[in-house]
Amino acid sequence: MNNLKDLPKIDLHCHLDGSLSKSFIEHCLKRNVSALELTAPSDCASLAEYLTKFDLPISCIQTRENLKAAVIDLLRQAREDNILYMEIRFAPTLSVNASLGYKDIYEAVIEGANEGLKSFGVYSNIIICAMRHHTKEQNLEMLKIGREYLGNGICALDLAGDEAGFPNELFTYLFEEARRLDMPFTVHSGECGSINNIKLAVEAGAKRIGHGICLVNDPALMRLCKEKNIGFELCPTSNYQTKAVKTIASYPLRNFLDFGIIATVNTDNMTVSDTTMSKEYELITQKLNIAKDELIQLYENSIRLSFANDDVKNMLYKTVKDYEK
Ligand SMILES: [Zn+2]
Repeated sequence: MNNLKDLPKIDLHCHLDGSLSKSFIEHCLKRNVSALELTAPSDCASLAEYLTKFDLPISCIQTRENLKAAVIDLLRQAREDNILYMEIRFAPTLSVNASLGYKDIYEAVIEGANEGLKSFGVYSNIIICAMRHHTKEQNLEMLKIGREYLGNGICALDLAGDEAGFPNELFTYLFEEARRLDMPFTVHSGECGSINNIKLAVEAGAKRIGHGICLVNDPALMRLCKEKNIGFELCPTSNYQTKAVKTIASYPLRNFLDFGIIATVNTDNMTVSDTTMSKEYELITQKLNIAKDELIQLYENSIRLSFANDDVKNMLYKTVKDYEK
């Protein structure tokens, strides 16, 4: 097999704040930061504890210049890992302040994406995240203005944050508005064991589910997801850290693949989870016995599920041959 690092890769579930490099954060804060400040501990107890690691990087993306530079920082890291296409997600409302509005924020990250393509040859699109603890007014305004950039740098909506505290039934308004605006969406669901959240997201019209690993406990819902071609954005290292699975060996990637679900493997947060796509590939090939032809399948699943346009998808399909060497 090729060196895992050399294989072409796609990351469809990567948070901008949780993936900023140590050097970028130190540059922004003008001080040294420790690994403990940036990365979830190996004995991380829950998703709630995991989420406390985001305050520091979010403080670094509060200006137009830093937002643009943050996307460039991420795409530079992507190039090093031979990621050819990346969907970068972030919560715009966490960067809104008196001197920074949604349009400034969207234009800054799109400029960063364009510059990242020019400098590193990595294609990307932006997914905008509504937050579960934000108000209806905040989430709808973020979506309305973001929709103006659909197809021009922004590719979809997501819903993120404390899933257990704010379940999907509270967000009917958001899913309805996304459908009305013809905005494709993915939803973080089933990361904390709630099968009902996956069900509600699928019924509401989600094209993809972030994590969703408890799906394997409900064969009827699995069949429905298979029939509807719902894609799953799995993030093994992160899911282990947030205690969505007890052991890596029990990670249900193979169950998804064997059932015929369109599953993909992603990083979630490169810095908070101290991971890369190469490390995820290493983990699943060594601990879950994922074979080379299954890596090809995962890569093709990512192309199929991506919110990229046909030109980018066709370019990515041509790179599948690099797995056959
Ligand atoms: Zn996520």
